[in-house]
Amino acid sequence: MNAHDSEKVIGTLIQQGYAQVETPEEAHLVLYNTCSIRDKAEQKVFNRLQNFKRDAGRGKVFGVLGCVAQQEGEKIFARAPHVSMVCGSASYTRLPEMLVQLEAGNRRVTGLSLDTDETFDTPFTRRDNPHRAYITIIEGCDKSCAYCVVPFTRGPERSRTSESVIAEAGRLAGQGYTEIQLLGQNVNSYRDPSPAGWDFATLLARVAEVRGIRRVRYTTSHPRDFVRGIVDAMDANPVLCDHVHLPVQSGSSRVLAAMDRLYTRDEYMRRIEWLKTARRNYSLTTDIIVGFPGETEEDFERTLDLLDEVQYDSLFSFKYSPRPNTAAIAMADAVPEEEKKRRLAIVQEKQRLIQIRRNAERIGTIEEVLVEGRHAALGQWIGRTSDNHTLNFTHPETNGESLIGTYLPVRVTRSGPNSLVGESATVV
Ligand code: SAM
Ligand code: SF4
Repeated sequence: MNAHDSEKVIGTLIQQGYAQVETPEEAHLVLYNTCSIRDKAEQKVFNRLQNFKRDAGRGKVFGVLGCVAQQEGEKIFARAPHVSMVCGSASYTRLPEMLVQLEAGNRRVTGLSLDTDETFDTPFTRRDNPHRAYITIIEGCDKSCAYCVVPFTRGPERSRTSESVIAEAGRLAGQGYTEIQLLGQNVNSYRDPSPAGWDFATLLARVAEVRGIRRVRYTTSHPRDFVRGIVDAMDANPVLCDHVHLPVQSGSSRVLAAMDRLYTRDEYMRRIEWLKTARRNYSLTTDIIVGFPGETEEDFERTLDLLDEVQYDSLFSFKYSPRPNTAAIAMADAVPEEEKKRRLAIVQEKQRLIQIRRNAERIGTIEEVLVEGRHAALGQWIGRTSDNHTLNFTHPETNGESLIGTYLPVRVTRSGPNSLVGESATVV
């Protein structure tokens, strides 16, 4: 989502007459798009800003965008006095006006209001990938997970009209994009604000029908709002990719309640059951937090046995990081840092073994990939399967012709914990 926000900000700047340069050294205006989901990400921003402090006197203008901007607000000016602009994502629609103020020499420009029902819905996006395009369908979050800053940094939920989403998908298809990824903190709570009133499952089904689009992905789903209709929509149209990212956070219902996740382990497992008994095979991935306040060894064991039970194809795992304004920051029974580290390592090792075994089971199968790049040193093309696995493969000499952007069948010949290797199964 941050990467896509950057694409939209860059597009807006280019539309205002700015030109993008390769390095911060060459730039007159340097904008940092920031993440504050964990403390480490936030610290990085201030370290980077510190590194550029000496350039401020040389006419460079600095701005901080995104979640750290929203969270820290004008305090950033005190901590990094060479910063001239601080702007959270809910105020990006005001960027052109803020740039005018900066150019007029204003040294302290802010966009910090969360009081908006607008989405940052811009036609000026400068997209990084020529084949896969992101479309934000919902911004903000109305949940209140006890550990999470997002509701404070991205504001309340607001959905884009289905009409504008379908129109953008159509425009992208016309420009040659074949894969679309629908984005939101919680895409499942999408509610079309126009009279059509589509829910997420309907939107998914309709985006998948846009002529020229061959793959549609979406992220992220909140399990509470992941309804059966979404699985039915996916089953009905293979353009909707064979992958669901369904963050569980913990396998212990006690911890889930403390996190205010609004589902129990059993309720989560019911969703997994829908997916496992569906018409197609869906690859499942998740997010795990270890060391949430009060997480006992027994709670942690529940997370480990959930990994055994679900058999995810990959996961993102994090040590709990206390965040400002959140409910969990005041919770008792913090888990010591060393213990969090230990639990994280156990989760990651367990998952590594699961992935080794699951990936090995794919050897011999033929999968369709979208070719995304070339690994010249290895003599391989980089492909991605519908279920979001990287599948690098060899292909007979193409006489210099690029395969990037094409869809090809590939036979899997080798596997590792994080990727698959194969050979083109195209008959030549
Ligand atoms: N909206 C999505 C959801 O509810 O699953 C995810 C949003 S968040 C950007 C991505 C992941 O970061 C979360 O699923 C969670 O695992 C992790 N995360 C969020 N806050 C965290 C914190 N305070 N400490 C550690 N991990 C955190
Ligand atoms: Fe954060 Fe929870 Fe909202 Fe996801 S659903 S963004 S974890 S508050």
